[in-house]
Amino acid sequence: MNNTNSIREYQRAVKSIPGGVNSPVRAFKSVGMPPVLIDRAKGSKIWDIDGNEYIDFVSSWGPMILGHAREEIVEAIRKTAEKGTSFGAPTMLETQMAELIVEMMPSVESVRMVNSGTEATMSALRLARGFTKRDKVIKFAGNYHGHADSFLINAGSGAMTFGVPNSPGVTKATAADTLVAPYNDLQAVADLFTAHADEIAAVIVEPAAANMGLVLPQEGFLQGLRELTQKHGALLIFDEVITGFRLARGGAQELYGIMPDLTTMGKIIGGGLPVGAYGGRKDIMEKLAPAGPVYQAGTLSGNPLAMAAGITALTILNENHEIYSALDKKGQQLAAGFRKNIAETGVKAIVNQLGSLLTVFFTNADQVTSYQEAAQCDTEQFARYFKLSLENGIYLAPSQFECAFVSEAHSEDDLNKTIAANRSALQQLTDL
Ligand SMILES: *Cc1c(COP(=O)(O)O)cnc(C)c1O
Repeated sequence: MNNTNSIREYQRAVKSIPGGVNSPVRAFKSVGMPPVLIDRAKGSKIWDIDGNEYIDFVSSWGPMILGHAREEIVEAIRKTAEKGTSFGAPTMLETQMAELIVEMMPSVESVRMVNSGTEATMSALRLARGFTKRDKVIKFAGNYHGHADSFLINAGSGAMTFGVPNSPGVTKATAADTLVAPYNDLQAVADLFTAHADEIAAVIVEPAAANMGLVLPQEGFLQGLRELTQKHGALLIFDEVITGFRLARGGAQELYGIMPDLTTMGKIIGGGLPVGAYGGRKDIMEKLAPAGPVYQAGTLSGNPLAMAAGITALTILNENHEIYSALDKKGQQLAAGFRKNIAETGVKAIVNQLGSLLTVFFTNADQVTSYQEAAQCDTEQFARYFKLSLENGIYLAPSQFECAFVSEAHSEDDLNKTIAANRSALQQLTDL
């Protein structure tokens, strides 16, 4: 693999950007090689600046569920740009977007647009605190809710990849208001409610955890959270920034049939542009300024280009339900192929998969259901697997603690090549 241009340009970037990247996991640090810089992408394929072609499973970390540079989305952005790119005044596009989200997401009656998932979770927490007049929040180890201070406690994703689950710069006072329970451990949540009666504003959870690798909620876990929060007067927040519009049209809440009080969204709703949103019960959302006293604002929130791209993506997903059954089939096909390869090569690994999300965990264990189990994986083995995959033309997230994202654009040929590349990489791992 020739990556001379990427190496040169990365060395150049490091001089003017901290670590050479604008988001940490992009740096490939945990897999011990310099990142490839991307030139362009189309459908399921992505090309680096040395001209190497890959089948892309990073999918911009989730947003590109319809594939890259989808014609309808590019056209919507182009047409909207010609009318001006930002006004700082309301537009009909924003209402259209809100109506689509309300139609698609079962528990959302009213929704506020922001510019990232981080902003969505941060604002939802402020709203939950304002609504309940309580300060504390329960989150789960290995769940990632963006980089706001309150959530950088035992966080997943990049924080987990770099072994800094608790970032310097988060004050002790902030950390003290964030209570952490193990994922899938209802008893731990019940104990926290007992220990902090009438202090807990909300429980925030990734309804399927996708930031410590993919970890599925066990039977009864989400239902249990619904019951505990109701019993103790706290709000239940589903962070559906990854799962929303991906696991089903109406996200994990539709798939599992659980109605949270608030939902945070991002990634897919922007159609590839920077967007986040939070919404839920109308009586709670009405507490937001200017309807109510909880303040939250944004100069570029509801930006026309982002709305146009998002509306186009969501409309395609809303009107073509068969996309979800097709994505499920593709996810299952990859998982089955990988599991067969694992069994036949004897590599110690397991595959967690749900719909279009999947993770190959390099572990001796026979299940990964929590942060603790995920953290025991062999990250050096993953790093070798990652490099072999890249050399075989498969672009995976450069961390053991992330998912592969399958998109509508992945073809039968892409999947077969990916399963063959997985086979070859696993085989080489046993030869080492
Ligand atoms: C990506 C992610 C976020 C943060 O979204 P950004 O747009 O990166 O700020 C929050 N929650 C979850 C579950 C995510 O996967």
